[in-house]
Amino acid sequence: MNVLVINCGSSSLKYQLINMNDESVLAKGLVERIGIEGSVLKHEREGIDKVKFEQPLKDHKDAINLVLKTLVDPTCGAVKSLEEIDAIGHRVVHGGEKFAGSVKITDEVVNAMKDCIDLAPLHNPPNIIGIEACKELLPNVPMVGVFDTAFHQTMPEVSYIYPLPYELYKELGIRRYGFHGTSHKYVTERVAAITGKDLQGTKIITCHLGNGASLSAIKDGISIDTSMGMTPLEGLVMGTRCGDIDPAIVTFLMNKKNLSVEDIDNLMNKKSGVLGISGVSSDFRDIEGAAEEGNHRAQLALDKFAYTVKKYIGSYAAAMGGVDTLVFTAGLGENSGSSREQICEGLEFLGIEIDKEKNNTRGKEVEISKEGSKVRVFVIPTNEEVMIARDTVTLTK
Ligand code: ADP
Repeated sequence: MNVLVINCGSSSLKYQLINMNDESVLAKGLVERIGIEGSVLKHEREGIDKVKFEQPLKDHKDAINLVLKTLVDPTCGAVKSLEEIDAIGHRVVHGGEKFAGSVKITDEVVNAMKDCIDLAPLHNPPNIIGIEACKELLPNVPMVGVFDTAFHQTMPEVSYIYPLPYELYKELGIRRYGFHGTSHKYVTERVAAITGKDLQGTKIITCHLGNGASLSAIKDGISIDTSMGMTPLEGLVMGTRCGDIDPAIVTFLMNKKNLSVEDIDNLMNKKSGVLGISGVSSDFRDIEGAAEEGNHRAQLALDKFAYTVKKYIGSYAAAMGGVDTLVFTAGLGENSGSSREQICEGLEFLGIEIDKEKNNTRGKEVEISKEGSKVRVFVIPTNEEVMIARDTVTLTK
């Protein structure tokens, strides 16, 4: 069974065609600049050089059309005909309280997704547009929606409620939801597979550290807390997002600098985080380079990032009454040994001890804790696509 996994952003679209008999990736690619001048599709398949198609793509339907054409292309395609695509799995960012798991997509489900647009005005609309375009182009292929928020729907009330008037939760759905759920769930399942242990009784902290970053406290295999909130702005210091700040800064800045709602939103989401502190870049590779050359603000950005992650690890250990496993994943978590080392430094009191040599690794699934470390520490490359494809198989079979 072949599953096409689609992740639609506002002007981009990532895809993977996965053969679910062995979970091998038949082809994958990325469409960028949808609806803007310079649209391009970059496509990869084993056995061929990466190919690039540049042509105007006015919307997501155009983009998906080109993806489908490329997948059946006699030279660079992966299947002979579209009939070999058995199901489609869509990543959907926000499922609100409506979706605590993946669902087979029906008109009713699409309407419920539309009800969640208020909660994710930038993310949900392109996800829904992608679903509607696929429905038009491949009307007979079953589709499944997989939500970034679903895994965290197990959070207890005490984790998800904000200390605001309770009525606002009821009226507007203002509560913590959490994101990156598919990734936190994937690495949790990998921990069970690697250790050969039942998740019952385990206390795992998962660190998804990419451009967007979040931590999750996972007790008995279920998420009991996570650092992102109603939106992906809460929590850690990120590439360009500020994470936790004193909420009074928002009104203070709007006042002092005469900022509009849009301005302040933009400042906190696009100009803050390690980019804001360093003034160098949002990419940790650039910041690490600048810090090595003695740039104080770059070093400060790295220090602030690691310090924040460390504090969350401490608080999640407290929330769970301990921790037995720590996992690093996503771009930075998988690739930056120096960040992992900085984060774990001083956490020996919790039983977290990493082996410097084992930690000198990138992009591979390995245990990096010292022999005898009370807490086992792993680097586990995430694979959100395969999780989406697995749920798609389960729900369409
Ligand atoms: P997202 O999916 O949120 O865009 P990723 O999980 O792809 O993010 O992570 C991207 C980030 O990972 C980049 O911004 C970069 O800072 C970081 N990263 C990737 N490779 C390395 C590396 N070798 N060293 C340090 N940081 C890295």
